Amino acid sequence: MRFTDKVVIVTGAASGIGLATAKRFGSEGAHVVIADLNPAKAEAAAQEVKAAGAPDAWGSACDVSKEDQVIATVAGAMQKFGRLDVVVNNAGLMVFKPITDQTADDWNRILSVDLLGAFFFTKQAFLNMKPGGAIVNISSIHAEETSPLVASYAAAKAALVSLTRSSALEGKPKGLRINVILPGAIDTPMLWDNPNIKSGVEKINPADVGKPEDIAAAIAYLASDDAAFVQGAALRVDGGRLDQL
Ligand code: NAP
Repeated sequence: MRFTDKVVIVTGAASGIGLATAKRFGSEGAHVVIADLNPAKAEAAAQEVKAAGAPDAWGSACDVSKEDQVIATVAGAMQKFGRLDVVVNNAGLMVFKPITDQTADDWNRILSVDLLGAFFFTKQAFLNMKPGGAIVNISSIHAEETSPLVASYAAAKAALVSLTRSSALEGKPKGLRINVILPGAIDTPMLWDNPNIKSGVEKINPADVGKPEDIAAAIAYLASDDAAFVQGAALRVDGGRLDQL
């Protein structure tokens, strides 16, 4: 029980990796805030997280790309639970288009959710966390290697690794640790909705598909005191997929 009495915000926690992560923190004693777009889904996830053993869970409707909604979620967590120990910046989305068809709106949408959302939560975490706090960002192997049609996503995920580095430098004097995970292919709706996978442009060996719980376990490690000396690290969790020629 590494997170007894701690308060953890997980963004995009109504589905996939975020939901598994919220359950993992709850099962280790944390009070969990589910920050997700849809209020009904956020509340349903909070009930699921409590049923899985969390002492308490709160669903907060939050579009991470809107700074006022991020401020409201963090303020709500502080008001309800009195502290903030961990933020997991997990909410993310992709757009699939050739570069010649992409618009400024496409890029702004992806960058505002996948990158700015993490910046907004990092800023609020820095303003509210006490020493000992931790942030875990969820990037992607697309930060290092990619496929066609996802230029904005790959750029946002690479920039999130860079934000992690900058945040780690500025967080260290505050006693805060910031690290990033680069998941490989994980069995969630986002993976199977991916047109590159459906069309075969991106091929996946079933042995290289991980479970949301595999990422949740790595997130919990980086957020815990077990990782007390891990700062600014980028951890690839892909079952070794990128190692193969
Ligand atoms: P998922 O099942 O699609 O879950 C993403 C969640 O984020 C959904 O509940 C979604 O809500 C929510 N969300 C989307 N936009 C949001 C916003 N603006 N504000 C708040 N919440 C928002 O995806 P996943 O596969 O678990 O992915 C989680 C993270 O892992 C993402 O950052 C993704 O890039 C990363 N990742 C996933 C894989 C993979 O293979 N699955 C691989 C590498 C990295 P709605 O459903 O209502 O839109």
